[in-house]
Amino acid sequence: MKASEIRSTFLKFFESKGHTIVPSSPVVPGDDPTLLFTNAGMNQFKDVFLGFDKRPYTRATTSQKCIRAGGKHNDLENVGYTARHHTFFEMLGNFSFGDYFKKDAISFAWELLTEHFKLPKDKLWATVYAEDDEAYDIWLKVIGLPAERIVRIGDNKGARYASDNFWMMGDTGPCGPCSEIFYDHGPDVAGGPPGSPEQDGDRYIEIWNNVFMQFNRTEDGTMHRLPKPSVDTGMGLERLAAVLQHVHSNYEIDLFVNLLAAARSAVEAAGGQDVDAESPSLKVIADHIRACAFTVADGIIPGNEGRGYVLRRIARRAIRHGYKLGARKPFFHTLVEALAVEMGEAYPELRRDKLRITEVLKAEEERFFQTIAHGMEILEGALASGATVIDGETAFKLHDTFGFPLDLTADVCRERGVTVDGAGFDAAMQRQREQARSKAKFKMAQGLAYDGEATTFHGYEHLVCEHAKVSAIYVD
Ligand code: ATP
Ligand code: MG
Ligand code: MG
Ligand code: MG
Repeated sequence: MKASEIRSTFLKFFESKGHTIVPSSPVVPGDDPTLLFTNAGMNQFKDVFLGFDKRPYTRATTSQKCIRAGGKHNDLENVGYTARHHTFFEMLGNFSFGDYFKKDAISFAWELLTEHFKLPKDKLWATVYAEDDEAYDIWLKVIGLPAERIVRIGDNKGARYASDNFWMMGDTGPCGPCSEIFYDHGPDVAGGPPGSPEQDGDRYIEIWNNVFMQFNRTEDGTMHRLPKPSVDTGMGLERLAAVLQHVHSNYEIDLFVNLLAAARSAVEAAGGQDVDAESPSLKVIADHIRACAFTVADGIIPGNEGRGYVLRRIARRAIRHGYKLGARKPFFHTLVEALAVEMGEAYPELRRDKLRITEVLKAEEERFFQTIAHGMEILEGALASGATVIDGETAFKLHDTFGFPLDLTADVCRERGVTVDGAGFDAAMQRQREQARSKAKFKMAQGLAYDGEATTFHGYEHLVCEHAKVSAIYVD
């Protein structure tokens, strides 16, 4: 079943259960300063869950464009390393606004997966929030899932998993306990069942999360009960497609085949020779062109702050992966064409804005190609010394002079098993800011106009790069 059919089967199934099909909202949330990018289907319904907004329906279903490259849900570091994470993906969801609750939600999910998508029942596992006996009993008694495949998360697994089955959109907003459905890709793949210490493999893949929205978390951490218990679910289209197309990795599904081939040709046309079709770098590029194109389509351009900086980071990361494969001139922007062919029918903005998106990405790419070679030389030099940690000064110089976002430097280092001194980077940035300030003061004291580099600090965003051990990424 092609991804497009999976998308429409999902929406039609929920339509037949009384849900209104609602279009995806943009990846850039209109009026929610707490959110960098749309990270889940429920975002556009936040106020409906909170009771501030009324809709003419109490049941909805969507296929939502999502980006997880910053904030609470950040998968940038996972792309290229796991079979299941993208920065941009489509989330299929069904929503109940004070209408049905746990029993119907779980029953709908089971019916769709096993009767319509015909997934073998014995390959499915469910998790529930540790104290949620109600959801546990529904799985056991209503659905008939054997107890061995129902896992309570949070009861004996320590802090690491304790909060996994309590879903939160961000630090604030609607949240609640959840029940997740996993698919077992079989013993050929490494990894343990959900909740086990070996879960971090890719064997048991989480495909669908059913969140029982019951609370609104406010800034002080207080949980306020929502006016009515509701349901919010999310299933990754690409993950379900992998299951239904009998492949293990999301990157092997129909949506990615042509895009990966286009990425390979583009890199080769830009100087790469005999690029290995299986290279993880091609996956990163194919993933990132989706994130970048959709972000530009929704009105963001690369820049040094906030969303624009996240876009810049994703684009430059992709460009660096192309560079690694041998590209020596801009190639990334040419992929917008292949993407529009692949996804333009479902998302017409890609066709409509194709030229503009291409131009915006091309300009960014031309800019980065001016400094990438020199920056890479410096980084390679530092790596050649055999150090296991790249010092903060070097990382800062790469950032400041060569336009290497910290996570890009960390990405290169990670490939060599080297980490970056994030605290040292922070300190170097702080020092530079202070120097700029005193220089400005000195000039002003002398009655001179300040003509130095403007290094206004526009606030930062803490994005923890677990693997790279980078403490913070500043948006400057
Ligand atoms: P994971 O534990 O695999 O990172 P998650 O628990 O963070 O997933 P949820 O927040 O529960 O994911 O999102 C709902 C669903 O969206 C997931 O069950 C999965 O199918 C899909 N999904 C989440 N993150 C991604 C991603 N980065 N790329 C592709 N699909 C994703
Ligand atoms: Mg996740
Ligand atoms: Mg999860
Ligand atoms: Mg989840």
